[in-house]
Amino acid sequence: MSENCIFCKIVKGDISSTKVHEDEDCVVFHDINPAAPVHLLVVPRKHFVSLEDVSAADAGWLGRMMVLIPRLAAENGCRPGPEGGFRLVANAGKDGGQEVPHLHFHILGGPRPWQARMATPAA
Ligand code: AMP
Ligand code: ZN
Repeated sequence: MSENCIFCKIVKGDISSTKVHEDEDCVVFHDINPAAPVHLLVVPRKHFVSLEDVSAADAGWLGRMMVLIPRLAAENGCRPGPEGGFRLVANAGKDGGQEVPHLHFHILGGPRPWQARMATPAA
């Protein structure tokens, strides 16, 4: 728990969120400002600022979260198969466009177009 961290407060239940899943590793809830028809945030319970802070010791829970993500995407409205799918985003640092300094993964899905802020950048 990091003081004044909004995601730590959501994990603890001090700030409300629309949770769709929680387990020993993480809490998953709807983004308050969705950039796509499906927009979930996967937030580890433990406070890490970003992926820059993880090490080999974190491979277990990170791996479990990666296995969970496609299931959560499907259960929450992302369409299956090559015509559907989802986008997984982890912003790190200022150059990465990170706004909340507690590691999290965005799951984005549903029919396009999406908002420009999460649209696939032009090649
Ligand atoms: P990032 O730019 O990767 O740090 O993304 C932070 C995300 O957190 C943004 O998409 C915000 O809309 C979202 N967000 C901020 N506060 C809340 C909140 N209280 N509940 C749900 N989502 C939030
Ligand atoms: Zn935190």
